[in-house]
Amino acid sequence: MRRIIIAFFTFSIITFLIISPVQAGTRTPTPTPDPAIRFGQTWITYELPDFYTFHIKVESPDYTPVKGNIRLYLYEGEVVEATLKIDPVHPRELNYSISPLSFILYPNVPVHVRWDVSDVSGRAASSDYQEVVGQDARYQWQTLKSDKRDLTVLYHDRSPSFGETIFDTAEKSAEFMEENFDAHLTKPIMVVIYNSHDEVRNYYTDFGDSIGGQAFSDLGLTMQIIQDDKWMEDWINDVIPHEISHLYFYQATGGDKLSWMLYPPTWLNEGIAQINATGNDSQQLEDINWQLSHSAFLPNLRYLDAHFGENEDVLTIEYQMAYSVTSYILNTYGEESVADLLAAYADNASCENAFIGVLGVNFLTLEKEWRKASGLPSEEKYYSGPKDTPTPTRGPSPTPTATPTPKDNSKIVTGGFLGLAALCLCCFILVLFIFVLLLVINQQKKKKESDRTSQPFS
Ligand SMILES: [Zn+2]
Repeated sequence: MRRIIIAFFTFSIITFLIISPVQAGTRTPTPTPDPAIRFGQTWITYELPDFYTFHIKVESPDYTPVKGNIRLYLYEGEVVEATLKIDPVHPRELNYSISPLSFILYPNVPVHVRWDVSDVSGRAASSDYQEVVGQDARYQWQTLKSDKRDLTVLYHDRSPSFGETIFDTAEKSAEFMEENFDAHLTKPIMVVIYNSHDEVRNYYTDFGDSIGGQAFSDLGLTMQIIQDDKWMEDWINDVIPHEISHLYFYQATGGDKLSWMLYPPTWLNEGIAQINATGNDSQQLEDINWQLSHSAFLPNLRYLDAHFGENEDVLTIEYQMAYSVTSYILNTYGEESVADLLAAYADNASCENAFIGVLGVNFLTLEKEWRKASGLPSEEKYYSGPKDTPTPTRGPSPTPTATPTPKDNSKIVTGGFLGLAALCLCCFILVLFIFVLLLVINQQKKKKESDRTSQPFS
């Protein structure tokens, strides 16, 4: 039995080390890098659509690396670390290949890189933190840059007039945010246009068939698919202002927050994006309010913020609510109130406190007044399944069809994975604990039994 326990413990410890390589790795002391060993500059070569390769040369001829790591410092403090395979024939020429599906390199977005190596005697060397900018090198990109703001538009294999149309629309949308809401950029923004799904499918992992584009607010980047068809002009006038608005909203409210409580409500972000695309139009507002007044789904604003975009069945209504309540705020409190709200969020006001400070109302009062002024029922309604008819029809829906994009895909994926890993680890430890407990009880029981059976003979 003791052997079984020892074997089980050995197995457990090995398994634990395998599933937590980062923690295991951090226990090894890292030797101080020798500053005399020099490195060149990192560059990237492309074998697309299969992979990118990062390269660097160790320039000190008397130093021969035998092992090493590359670290890629991504947005929001994420770090990707990988072990290098050193070519014994060219040990000073380091390289690391990665698939575009890894979602590490976005077109024109800088990544920071550091290379760490050591030689056979354990002498360590590290490059400095180097900035390198990736490209989607499959295409010849045309670039249009604004001289009024840090805005760039990239497109390929389309006419110059197409590029000008995208650029003018982006400039107008940026002006709208600056002039109406006093929103200003703190970092560059970029609009990258692809021509079809085929160009992005199997290249960027997150582009499914139903996705028309994605905004990465933290990177100041939006990638959009704009096909050359009869809906092209409408789509440009819809999606470009919508996405530019999101990029401005993110930067004007201070970017990423330390706590979810400090984020502005999603419905305000989506409401402003729609108003940027279609204007604050009274006829459109009337149509939307009519549809909302007949909707089987009309949750409160807190619920709307927490669950925006979760259920496709009610997505149209969620956008309509966002448009309606944002229009109500603009019409009742004025454009400067939205400018003040954005500034309050940049000052780290919490979600509801910004409204209390700027408009003098909490969400409950705002909601009551908005519903009353818009002819909406005061009763909150929640969607309970497909048997309900959530969207009443009254001619073509005036709601813009811009593809909703999650605030940050990568964080959700990483967070989900880490959460799952932590859960697995906890379950594993619990099972291990129960197993050991049962073994001990079982052994004690056997011992007692053997004591009892051996007593008459002792
Ligand atoms: Zn949106």
